[in-house]
Amino acid sequence: MAYRWGMAVDLDKCTGCEACVTACHAENNIPTVGSQQAARGRAMHWIRVERYYEGNFPDVRVKFRPVLCQQCDNAPCEAVCPTYAAHQNEDGLNAQVYNRCIGTRYCANACSYNVRFFNFFNPEWVKPLNLQLNPDVSIREVGVMEKCTFCVQRIKAAKITAKAEDRGLVDGVLQPACAQACPTTALIFGDLNDPNSRVARLSHSPRGSKLLEDLGAEPKITYLDKQPWHEPDTY
Ligand code: SF4
Repeated sequence: MAYRWGMAVDLDKCTGCEACVTACHAENNIPTVGSQQAARGRAMHWIRVERYYEGNFPDVRVKFRPVLCQQCDNAPCEAVCPTYAAHQNEDGLNAQVYNRCIGTRYCANACSYNVRFFNFFNPEWVKPLNLQLNPDVSIREVGVMEKCTFCVQRIKAAKITAKAEDRGLVDGVLQPACAQACPTTALIFGDLNDPNSRVARLSHSPRGSKLLEDLGAEPKITYLDKQPWHEPDTY
């Protein structure tokens, strides 16, 4: 395996702005389903920002946690897919082949992170949203399951360019849309197979932990814990 893509999420840096969510929607042609469908649990977000509150008013602190597909090495979604639509690709990505998916939704039930989304109807883009569709990303049809791909279209394009220029990929240059859009650089993407990459080093950080690690899915996203709050120095 030449590459093994992973991510680190620095919870100390995330401000909950949701720029990552918006960028992901735009990059990956993710439809907005409207308030009525959202109320029925059909909203689609390949990345979401969870909020946790500590303390009582007026001394309340909020913690934000961006959650996306954890690109598990031992992915339960892959084991239950009867058509191998969910599978591990050559870069260790938990890939989804849309035209193999027959919509059993077993994968969504097997996933512990609630990051797989089912198309209950054909997506529609109200004008002028149709003008921003990304031609590099397939539009998913009714009956198909979808989820974060780590912007595989960007990964493929970067690999093709690097091969044509007879060079390797430079750490930190290739980024999924969420990481590129994050104003605080809370999302760090890279190759876990490269011991010198930032993401590989952060994966060993003492602040690091995996989401629901005890379940044994072996996620490739490391969350860096928020640091204890200190009152600012007074002068
Ligand atoms: S863009 Fe960055 S700071 Fe904003 S919610 Fe996403 S991860 Fe957090």
